[in-house]
Amino acid sequence: MTFGARQQGTAFPTQTWRFSWKQRLDARASILGDGLLDIVRACKRHLPTSALHMLSNGRLFRYLSLAQRLASVAHPDLVVGVPLYSDLAARHDFVVQAKGAFDDTVRGVMNLLRCGVRVELRVVLHKLTVERLPALARFIGRNLPSVEHVALMGLEMMGYVKMNLEQLWIDPWHYRGELVSAIRELAYARVNASIYNHQLCVLPQQLWPYARKSISDWKNEYIELCDRCAVKDQCGGFFASARLRHSRYLRAIIPEDTTCPIELPPSKGDC
Ligand code: SF4
Repeated sequence: MTFGARQQGTAFPTQTWRFSWKQRLDARASILGDGLLDIVRACKRHLPTSALHMLSNGRLFRYLSLAQRLASVAHPDLVVGVPLYSDLAARHDFVVQAKGAFDDTVRGVMNLLRCGVRVELRVVLHKLTVERLPALARFIGRNLPSVEHVALMGLEMMGYVKMNLEQLWIDPWHYRGELVSAIRELAYARVNASIYNHQLCVLPQQLWPYARKSISDWKNEYIELCDRCAVKDQCGGFFASARLRHSRYLRAIIPEDTTCPIELPPSKGDC
């Protein structure tokens, strides 16, 4: 599990601190159970105005008692961010390379919700996940409609992604249809949803209200083309790692293009 503190009033997740990978591995064994709860309690006590965003695969929360104990801390602004990659157990398990992960994660999310803990579902979009994205959105709408938020996230080309780029990379232009269908499914189910890490020029305009400037300042870049673009201020730009690969369909938006017809029903929250 990893933690980030969010500033009050910002959407999701403005990270101010995070364990390094090594610290995360070391911490994992020690923070489980009471150690985890102690950290959340300490955040509540010492950072009373900071929102807390905790990343977790959700699997341990299949134990209802752990979800109940986390809820009993009563942190005033805690969200648990849980990745979910498919509505099919086998596909999710393949993506995370862990048999049984889907069942544990879904059960964990249900337990957290049942205990009143807020949950954000995070779906990273790549070749292995986009095909069933609308089906996953329908699954969420029908089975987990009380999640706080669903983040549909563009790929950051770091770590294992970089090592498996050929298996994972897909030009976002080629999954525009799936993205529209998924957002539509979530909107109809009144599930709050956002699109992270995508450039506006590769998204259909009806999705622009769902796109967020989600890339942290220190790794956020624009390319030369963007200097001529009418929506640069609203566009989230690129990860620095996008130098490895980015869409072939990038184009500067001219002012006449910027009228945005919102054809989708509004979602529950801020869109
Ligand atoms: S041209 Fe650049 S600023 Fe404009 S929408 Fe595309 S990526 Fe964003």
